[in-house]
Amino acid sequence: MFGPGGFLFSLLLALFGITDVRLVGATELDVHLHDDAGLAVATLDGCLSQLRAILVRAGAVIDIRVCRAESPYSCQLPKDGARVVDLRILSAPRTYSRDVQHPALGHSVVSERGGVYATVFLEAVQHQASAANVPWTVLLAYAAAHEIGHLLLGANAHTARGVMKGSWDAQDMQAIFQNSFRFSREQQKKIAECCGGGRESGRVQNFKTPGSARGRPGATAD
Ligand SMILES: [Zn+2]
Repeated sequence: MFGPGGFLFSLLLALFGITDVRLVGATELDVHLHDDAGLAVATLDGCLSQLRAILVRAGAVIDIRVCRAESPYSCQLPKDGARVVDLRILSAPRTYSRDVQHPALGHSVVSERGGVYATVFLEAVQHQASAANVPWTVLLAYAAAHEIGHLLLGANAHTARGVMKGSWDAQDMQAIFQNSFRFSREQQKKIAECCGGGRESGRVQNFKTPGSARGRPGATAD
């Protein structure tokens, strides 16, 4: 939605006969975080700063608000023009998957065009982080980034490698541990266009663009 500035800009464009101009990265991304798992404040802060760094590297301008029951209005006033998504940390899914050996780390409610609501599951993250010998706080941040990736990029956003890979193996866990796991170059471009706060979308990092890997993930993210 346009605010007064956006309206004025549109009016100027109309006056000059320019009607089909799109601002690249005109909005920023507001993540409203609901911590139902009750993480310690310092732990949650660490996860969120890692999540912020992952999404900033992908080209987003991001604000993360922690929504608390005692301050219910803190998340009800999104910034003008911001793309708002809700992320919830749950201890475990409310309904269990049959794939108990490789439970999903998260879930997002998305169409092909994206969505607004995603969840990550703390127990599954901690279990798989322990098995892979990586800090669970880091894996939680990457699982959250994967689900937010779906919200921005759509249901069919899985790639053959990187953050949007549908199932993370030992090599991926190593990349996560080394903080060298990335969105694809094409996805970084889309994220910058959607939520780059007006920055040029061309400023993305080098990354081999993987092919498509559709289908339900097995081991890790959903
Ligand atoms: Zn996925």
